[in-house]
Amino acid sequence: MEFVDLKAQYRSLKAGIDERIHRVLDHGQYIMGPEVRELEEKLAAYTGARHCITVASGTEALLIALMAIDLEPGDEVITTPFTFAATAEMIVLLGGVPVFVDIEPDTCNIDASLIEAKVTSRTRAVMPVSLYGQCADMDVINAIAARHGLAVIEDAAQSFGAAYKGRKSCNLSTIGCTSFFPSKPLGCYGDGGAMFTNDDALAQACREIRVHGQSARYTHTRVGVGGRMDTLQCAVVLAKLDRFEWELQRRSELGARYGMLLAGTGVEPLAVRTGRECVWGQYTVFVDDRAALQASLIEQGIPTAVHYPRPLHLQPAYAQFGSDDGCPLSVRASQRVMSLPMSADLRDAEQDRVVKALVDSIRP
Ligand SMILES: *Cc1c(COP(=O)(O)O)cnc(C)c1O
Repeated sequence: MEFVDLKAQYRSLKAGIDERIHRVLDHGQYIMGPEVRELEEKLAAYTGARHCITVASGTEALLIALMAIDLEPGDEVITTPFTFAATAEMIVLLGGVPVFVDIEPDTCNIDASLIEAKVTSRTRAVMPVSLYGQCADMDVINAIAARHGLAVIEDAAQSFGAAYKGRKSCNLSTIGCTSFFPSKPLGCYGDGGAMFTNDDALAQACREIRVHGQSARYTHTRVGVGGRMDTLQCAVVLAKLDRFEWELQRRSELGARYGMLLAGTGVEPLAVRTGRECVWGQYTVFVDDRAALQASLIEQGIPTAVHYPRPLHLQPAYAQFGSDDGCPLSVRASQRVMSLPMSADLRDAEQDRVVKALVDSIRP
């Protein structure tokens, strides 16, 4: 069994993907070809955002977003320690200071009620992460940001297609950043990402920063990066859009089905709060004695993963930034989370096998 079955996805989309790739090989515009614009237009329309700017990866999207808001050394960005390193990494790379706030114990999203107490005169932005495909409490976060004049950058690397109160993830904040890493809900066959905004000036800044700060060819208006997404990767994402709605539907079904099958087993699924539509970027549960459980499952041919085993404020590279209260809920979650196989191509029978193996392993 695959943790994310990308080969099955390719088998079912092969004709369209191959055709799209060959079209690029034939027209030869490998950088900034017509597929780049086409994808940006389709994704902007999908999310409802005025602008979409594709970039080289989700990490690059976060970097360019922080550069676009002119983050300066010493500026503080309030974020969660319970995330992939890239979130805090880009803040620190620019000389900023990540201020870690603890999570909601049931969803593992940043606890919006703890944010306002952390705002200082140096705070420039809040960076919530839509972890496992579920958005944080964006209305509360946006209201705090508006009161204090802060930007909100949604790290939506795991949540393309998710929704919050009927609005799409990526279009819930000043700038939304997503990733097309192959195993994300919408993936390419290498690295890729995109940024979304409704602000014309910020969109222009992002476009310029993506190509070495050029406002016109060889006119370098600002310092930028080489951050383009290549045409072939855009072509792959375009082909995958053909059945993306079906995939979301299937993921939602599988998420509900996992919940049903796990009820009463002692394995506690992640909660999805009202008003949030989760895309199950990961299907994550809370368990005890995780290492033994993972070992038993892999013996039965069932791969699992841990997202993430150590919160960032306890990682060597970020420990210097610390946290006032030690973020105890993030620490606890990092010891108990385990992600189960999840992708649109997971079959009911496979899912039954996962749950049976899990239950057998807990009660031998
Ligand atoms: C995957 C991921 C990223 C980075 O995306 P890449 O495309 O791999 O650079 C950033 N943040 C989170 C939360 C992620 O899951």
